[in-house]
Amino acid sequence: MKKKIAEIVKNGKAGEELLVTGWLRTRRDTGSFSFLEINDGSSLVNLQVIAEDSLANYHDEIKKLGAGCALSISGVLQESPAKGQRVELVSSEVEVIGWADPDEYPLQKKRHSFEFLREISHLRPRTNALGCVTRVRSRLAYAVHTFFQERGFFQVHTPVITTSDCEGAGEMFSVSAEKRRTAGGDFFGKPAGLTVSGQLQAEVYAQAMGDVYTFGPTFRAENSHTSRHLAEFWMIEPELAFCDLAGNMKIAEEILKYLLADVLEHCQEDMDLFDKFIEKGLKKKLISVIENDFAHLTYTDAVEMLVQAKKKFEYPVKWGVDLQAEHERYLTEEVYGKPLIVTDYPLRIKPFYMRVNDDRKTVAAMDVLVPGIGEIIGGSQREERYDVLLERMQATGIDPEEYGWYLDLRKFGTVPHAGFGLGFERLVQYVTGMANIREVIPFPRTPGFAPC
Ligand code: ATP
Ligand code: MN
Repeated sequence: MKKKIAEIVKNGKAGEELLVTGWLRTRRDTGSFSFLEINDGSSLVNLQVIAEDSLANYHDEIKKLGAGCALSISGVLQESPAKGQRVELVSSEVEVIGWADPDEYPLQKKRHSFEFLREISHLRPRTNALGCVTRVRSRLAYAVHTFFQERGFFQVHTPVITTSDCEGAGEMFSVSAEKRRTAGGDFFGKPAGLTVSGQLQAEVYAQAMGDVYTFGPTFRAENSHTSRHLAEFWMIEPELAFCDLAGNMKIAEEILKYLLADVLEHCQEDMDLFDKFIEKGLKKKLISVIENDFAHLTYTDAVEMLVQAKKKFEYPVKWGVDLQAEHERYLTEEVYGKPLIVTDYPLRIKPFYMRVNDDRKTVAAMDVLVPGIGEIIGGSQREERYDVLLERMQATGIDPEEYGWYLDLRKFGTVPHAGFGLGFERLVQYVTGMANIREVIPFPRTPGFAPC
């Protein structure tokens, strides 16, 4: 019977007849047989296969196998006499499905740098670390859906192509149809671009369905060359009707804790690798995040703290300026040493849709900051009052005509509502300890870089 290696190494029993397919990691020859280490992607662990010299193709093929060759192997499972693995497969047939020339195959047994691996993004998922990232990322995506579905949220597929450019000013990739453009017209009758957030459309559905979320690709044409920015990334955006900032913060904390607990439980081997080789103490750190309350701080208090700080910042701080990554990281890493939610930012540095506080100087915004990364979530309570929203649009140069549909929501059964955006790759970075965001998405896109 054909089985995945993850299943075999966990539950396989001696005497089982099995078919396994995968790629060779290493071959080691001893007197009358060879050890073949096979990986099929299902687990970090390889399956050890014994190929004896009595096999018909032993001398012609098996002894020429190198890393990267694709194999289909039949055999019987036995308890392994050596330590290192519980079971091993004694092969009765080793069929070579695809050869890999050892002189050309770039993945050697030694550890490669992540920078080098980025240049071969078509082969890097075959390495241990990137395989672990892939499994953890997939599990996290699954857990995101489980979290929301279990709580009665509906997934809404918000558009990838958008004509509302309010948020994207300067950061939007434009979309056009070449034929129409050369004929002097826009495909949609007005300029369009790739979405920078699904929030505005999610708000529409929250005000019909109650609680919704979108989880999709998001694009930003920002010229950022940092370890936490991509031009194309995935964002999780819940939007909750009949919800204020306190409810919004509660769900943000809850989902982060839920997701951390889920991967720690379901991706143990992968998490062990990150803990051992990528960020020492990672698992302990994540457990402590799950077990402790997040810290809370208003922007005003945060500025006060930064001004008082002994540390010298590249960007000086005073009330009214946006917090830079260095400030965010100082607060969450050095002052609190745990996740921190900063709220109530100045109205002037935040978008028009955030709810204006009674002081008329700040808005009901929240950023969740975590050690090692800085901002992982940005969100707010939304302005539900028609007049205030209109005033904010006018003050920030947004054409109310263009956003008639958005204003309508405040005319017809308006309710307090709130939501946030959780950057999926920043989450994967946080969970895995990977230093650079380019390692946690299969095919990273950054300025000047999109090879395949
Ligand atoms: P930053 O200040 O770090 O650029 P932002 O304030 O632009 O973030 P938001 O617009 O609030 O971010 O987006 C919500 C979340 O999406 C962020 O908290 C972050 O996790 C993620 N995010 C934003 N921009 C990027 C990007 N370029 N690449 C990857 N993730 C991103
Ligand atoms: Mn940004």
